[in-house]
Amino acid sequence: GAINESHVDQEVTLYGWVHRRRDHGGVIFLDLRDREGIAQIVVDPDTEESFATAERIRNEFVVMVKGRIRRRPEGTINKDMTTGAVEVLGKEVVILNAAATPPFPLDDYVDVGEDTRLKYRFMDLRRPDMLNKLRFRSKVTSYIRNFLDGQGFMDVETPILTRATPEGARDYLVPSRTHAGSFFALPQSPQLFKQMLMVSGVDRYYQIAKCFRDEDLRADRQPEFTQIDIECSFIDENTLMNIMEEMVREMFHDLLDVQFSPFLRIPYSEAMEKYGSDKPDLRIPLQFTDVADLVAPVDFKVFSGPANDEKGRVVALRVPNGASISRKQIDTYTKYVSIYGAKGLAWIKVNELEKGAEGLQSPIVKFLGEEVAMQIMTRLGAENGDIVFFGADKAKIVNEAIGALRVKLGEDLDLYTCKWAPCWVVDFPMFEETNDGGLTAIHHPFTSPACTPEELEAAPEKALSQAYDMVLNGTELGGGSIRIHDGAMQKTVFRILGIEDEEAEAKFGFLLDALRFGCPPHGGLAFGLDRLVMLMTESQSIREVIAFPKNQSAACVLTQAPGVVDNKQLKELSISVRKPVKEEK
Ligand code: ASP
Repeated sequence: GAINESHVDQEVTLYGWVHRRRDHGGVIFLDLRDREGIAQIVVDPDTEESFATAERIRNEFVVMVKGRIRRRPEGTINKDMTTGAVEVLGKEVVILNAAATPPFPLDDYVDVGEDTRLKYRFMDLRRPDMLNKLRFRSKVTSYIRNFLDGQGFMDVETPILTRATPEGARDYLVPSRTHAGSFFALPQSPQLFKQMLMVSGVDRYYQIAKCFRDEDLRADRQPEFTQIDIECSFIDENTLMNIMEEMVREMFHDLLDVQFSPFLRIPYSEAMEKYGSDKPDLRIPLQFTDVADLVAPVDFKVFSGPANDEKGRVVALRVPNGASISRKQIDTYTKYVSIYGAKGLAWIKVNELEKGAEGLQSPIVKFLGEEVAMQIMTRLGAENGDIVFFGADKAKIVNEAIGALRVKLGEDLDLYTCKWAPCWVVDFPMFEETNDGGLTAIHHPFTSPACTPEELEAAPEKALSQAYDMVLNGTELGGGSIRIHDGAMQKTVFRILGIEDEEAEAKFGFLLDALRFGCPPHGGLAFGLDRLVMLMTESQSIREVIAFPKNQSAACVLTQAPGVVDNKQLKELSISVRKPVKEEK
């Protein structure tokens, strides 16, 4: 990839893989590839030995070529290649290693099943676009290290074999041989270690850290993933957010030539109200409009039920010029929102507003009544040609279903107003309700509330936290918080979460201890490196930017992990395996 016209007449030695071999009646062309690019080698029959070798070469053979760089003949220059003006006249060609026929072609982009790609990942990574993603990822980590080093952050490693670190997922457990019957947990994040480093006086910490969460997988999740983990002492929310924003803005500028304006800061409540999501995709201009008050009195239970329910929500989503969406497409959207628990998808097409309710086309206007339908149109500022979708259910379902619909419509109708839309979401509540009526921490239990312990105990469900998320194009890039640095406050939060003092001592005694010995006020955050690189390289999934990812069922197809272990090993670990639960039943 590095040779060009300035090297003409120089003798070179090149090593690489044969991307393609072409036999052109008497002359053999080898496209020789390494990670920097491709160079064309020409082997003439008058160099007999090399020619004979070249004849034996097949795609992906590893070879060494010695030769002279020369200008390509007029008319054969390839402007699409950085080396396209030159070629190497190969005088000596040596096969360093043969290669079996590749499981899929590397020189042409063909759609290969993902499991095949993962099984032969070492080959898949030879594809230039895959290598480029790895290269870009390396640039991102170097950039971040440089930035953080420059700001006085110190890289400290924390253990992989540890105790449960609650981030709300299932743990991966590792049995201990030396403590029979006991287990290590792999860290869901280095959260408590980084907080203890603050107690130690490290002051500014970072780590490019592997984290492990045994969760159901989606396109942007992996059981094992990488965080850029950061913590800082003597800092407030604002200062911390400013440093992190500066890092991301400068990185996008320097690596992608993208210039961001200062990030919007959106309170959680506003994000939920307008977009039904705490990670709004602000490239899409659509917003929710609450209409519960308008539909509360109507005799249409589907709407009036949730409108009169404290936990219900009724929203309208106006899509300008959406009236051309076909019935069939609406059916597809109805199916789509049902994934999120919505029982249906009501809609109104605005055909001729000047005719009043008669100009509205919809299965529900007759149930709403003309007056209410028109009141809704007025509130929405509806115009002819629009379509309006409705969500009416428990607020959680409406937010998720119509929030997802908003994103889907943005994608399908290409409603994007810009390519990149970063923001911060701030002022998260401390807790949310669990299905069994208890409370769970929205961020994690070490996040500091924005109120006193007394206020917190009096009304935990109302308390806000000092947590913040950085969101880009509807994806959470990172999140963090100012932490609790006071033992009493920490115990209060544990109690609210149903962890009584005794249990707290047993599980988090080391943290409570640390808080007793002069813990500085501190806070931090963590970015998901894989997601960040996925977005920056415009990849479809995080698996595209991880060298050796797990597949959708959390397995490594390449090494066949997880695997069965033999009984001797299990015995050493004092473990016996029950039959899989399914079989037992
Ligand atoms: N430990 C948190 C997480 O993994 C990030 C943080 O609060 O710094 O989400």
